[in-house]
Amino acid sequence: MHHKGKLKILYVSAEVSPFAKTGGLADVAGSLPKALAAGGNDVRVVMPGYKAIKSPMKYVVDFPVKMGDNVKTCIIRETEASLPFYFVDSYDYFDRDGIYCHFDDAERFAFFCNSVLEMLPKINFQPDIIHCNDWHTGPICMLIKERYNNISFYSGISSVYTIHNLEYQGNFPREVTSLFNVGGEVFIPDKVEYYGMFNFMKAGIVYADIINTVSSSYAKEIQTPQYGEGLDGLLRKRGKDLYGIVNGISYEDFNPSTDKRIYKNYDIKSLEAKKENKYALQEEMGLPAGDMPVIGLVSRLSGQKGLDLIIERIDDIMKHDLQFILLGTGDPYYESIFTGIKNRYPEKMSAFIGFNAVLAQKIYAGCDMFLMPSRFEPCGLGQIISLRYGTIPIVRSTGGLAETIIDYDEDRENGNGFSFTEFSPDELYITIERALSLYNRKPEEWKMLVERALTRDFSWNRSAEKYMELYYIAIEKKLV
Ligand code: ADP
Repeated sequence: MHHKGKLKILYVSAEVSPFAKTGGLADVAGSLPKALAAGGNDVRVVMPGYKAIKSPMKYVVDFPVKMGDNVKTCIIRETEASLPFYFVDSYDYFDRDGIYCHFDDAERFAFFCNSVLEMLPKINFQPDIIHCNDWHTGPICMLIKERYNNISFYSGISSVYTIHNLEYQGNFPREVTSLFNVGGEVFIPDKVEYYGMFNFMKAGIVYADIINTVSSSYAKEIQTPQYGEGLDGLLRKRGKDLYGIVNGISYEDFNPSTDKRIYKNYDIKSLEAKKENKYALQEEMGLPAGDMPVIGLVSRLSGQKGLDLIIERIDDIMKHDLQFILLGTGDPYYESIFTGIKNRYPEKMSAFIGFNAVLAQKIYAGCDMFLMPSRFEPCGLGQIISLRYGTIPIVRSTGGLAETIIDYDEDRENGNGFSFTEFSPDELYITIERALSLYNRKPEEWKMLVERALTRDFSWNRSAEKYMELYYIAIEKKLV
């Protein structure tokens, strides 16, 4: 038995940085496994082999995968970095542009789930833990229990399922069930059925040995109807197996003193260089250079992110001497509204619509404040990355934002940002004003706040330990 020894862990994710990324899931999948491997565990990561991935890979093995009445070929490739990354490829599902939002996503990710389990004996890796993430991988937890349970190779595997965002659940017509080659019995409300649909996320929550989400606050919130996205009843039912662990970030990938993506490196002793990043950013974004406060926003543009609050009060915000720099892509509604605002305030606002990892870092480094007024936020990495770059977050206190950001006016000793609770445009506006006021009137205090941000530790150290504890709990559970 592995009592608190080293473990063999398979980490499964639909996106992994630097190979493919749309949001925070990729950052976590690109960094947590490394932290676990640094602790001496045998960790391997597997993701789909999207066409856009350009890293050199070597062929490992191919094999047939049953998909209902069809058989498809799965090709496993590998790239050796600090640990093995496997890519599940096929002729049918991943050799096309984009990551999500194809008409056959159900089939694509069903294939991915089936392939991940079929791959294990072929690559001769028998993990103690399969760690699944978000809806794309939920059915793996079901397959372990419903299809592979009697096969000895698999019988010792425990599953941990992490919810990074409960909003995206992967609901598909019931016919999807047959792609997994499990009996139709799983299609009931106690298992994977959700209002007549097959719900991928529910398959993870129902069947995983242990479930967690990416902050303790969000773990509590999702057990209420307000944040539960229709699954709060099930989450309450599994409440004793539901944990919260706040995400860390990679302190190597995100490091202002070595980051090659920013204009000029800096640290706590060379804060003048942070200012050079500001001027260079202003110039690149077509704004007049100056010392007025610059507020940044880097985000998926979706209803979750509280952008409506900004839009509602934008004319008042723009009355202040400040600049606002936005980088984001997503909902065309928000894309066009922010483009419109930029056109109205060309001297004060700059909006780059698109995904751009290099520009994102320049914004984290070059801005004074970072705006994240989310409606809900499971963990949020934007506020953590900005702290790492000495940029002060202005956030709505929800989920992981509530757990990581302490309001400076409420707690001068520990405050590291500005926050508000009620989801209202007025609250947002007042909070921005509080931040501006400190910046403009008390530069010495502002500098102290920046230095405090730069000395906070949000690396994986602590949270990776907590994941190890979860893995041990999952293993114990299986033994009893
Ligand atoms: P979510 O996972 O909900 O998208 P997080 O705050 O957890 O939100 O993580 C977002 C991650 O994606 C951060 O690393 C952020 O810098 C990055 N990101 C979001 N939008 C963009 C964009 N348009 N261009 C580059 N990076 C982006």
